Amino acid sequence: SHRAAIQTASRGLYVGGKIPLGLKRKGLRVVVTGGAGFVGSHLVDRLIARGDSVIVVDNFFTGRKENVMHHFGNPNFELVRHDVVEPILLEVDQIYHLACPASPVHYKFNPVKTIISFCIRFLLTSTSEVYGDPLQHPQVETYWGNVNPIGVRSCYDEGKRTAETLTMDYHRGAQVEVRIARIFNTYGPRMCIDDGRVVSNFVAQALRKEPLTVYGDGKQTRSFQYVSDLVEGLMRLMEGEHIGPFNLGNPGEFTMLELASVVQDTIDPNAKIEFRPNTEDDPHKRKPDITRAKQLLGWEPKISLRQGLPLMVSDFRQRIFGDQSEAAA
Ligand code: NAD
Ligand code: UDP
Repeated sequence: SHRAAIQTASRGLYVGGKIPLGLKRKGLRVVVTGGAGFVGSHLVDRLIARGDSVIVVDNFFTGRKENVMHHFGNPNFELVRHDVVEPILLEVDQIYHLACPASPVHYKFNPVKTIISFCIRFLLTSTSEVYGDPLQHPQVETYWGNVNPIGVRSCYDEGKRTAETLTMDYHRGAQVEVRIARIFNTYGPRMCIDDGRVVSNFVAQALRKEPLTVYGDGKQTRSFQYVSDLVEGLMRLMEGEHIGPFNLGNPGEFTMLELASVVQDTIDPNAKIEFRPNTEDDPHKRKPDITRAKQLLGWEPKISLRQGLPLMVSDFRQRIFGDQSEAAA
């Protein structure tokens, strides 16, 4: 059938077959790099549920076996501990490339790997960070962004921008079928508890009865998307006929103080707020324009922050306290 033999390496990507567009896809072989991570593991659940064979390639840098353990023993599931910086030869139909240290505390810790860990692709999970500290609001895909090339965030921002460049070069030069998603801040169950992102920080802090740490004046904005909405968008993008890039995010925009108050309403109205100095080059505002995804993918997010947050909170409760009754006590 139409299998693509793909060798990935930091030096190149070789494709020995081509996936015909519009082919009715059933029971595909799909690689998810970073599939033991937060977003990847939810994607794996959906792919397995629809009957695909899934190979997760992950080095467990930030991912966890627990995120995919429920598939162990399923003949349609394989887990390969492997660093995508090294070559690997796999025969597959599709690659979702998610492997990347995604949280600031992690990518600042290991900048070089962030730059080179995007060597495999079909569907590239890029980021809203390619817009940097945007001068256009909301951000449309045609906006080229405002990134500080020498700042503390640039290994991530420029890494993803370079990944987009390489993806398009492979497409133009080697006729590789590619898809590019620009993901905006996403939250949900299985997020790293202590990875420093704002939603996981606030939720964990409120549950542990610690003050919510608001950086700067808290007036900076982000738009928060629930993970199942993102996974639906990624799958539509992979299956559709458009390369992108596509913004995948929830246009609901919140200041960090507003987010803190949603967390208070959801978990603990008495949770205190503590102001901390902000990090360098923090984007002042961010909100996706999703017109393109609506029109070409027929996609838009369904779950608001107030609906999605409780679903994440119950997962965090269990992971922090061990069981729900103890947490409720
Ligand atoms: P995550 O850290 O939970 O997942 C990343 C996974 O990649 C982890 O399982 C990690 O172990 C693995 N990984 C990292 N480097 C690797 C390597 N060299 N080889 C093999 N595996 C490696 O992060 P996530 O939030 O699930 O993010 C998934 C993707 O989505 C990333 O590419 C990220 O940049 C992108 N993204 C996420 C968000 C968000 O808000 N979650 C926003 C924008 C973009
Ligand atoms: N932030 C905060 N408190 C925290 C962690 C982050 O106020 O405990 C702020 C941070 O300064 C930024 C926003 O929340 O303005 C989003 O940060 P995050 O790292 O979650 O995502 P990104 O900056 O990559 O959008």
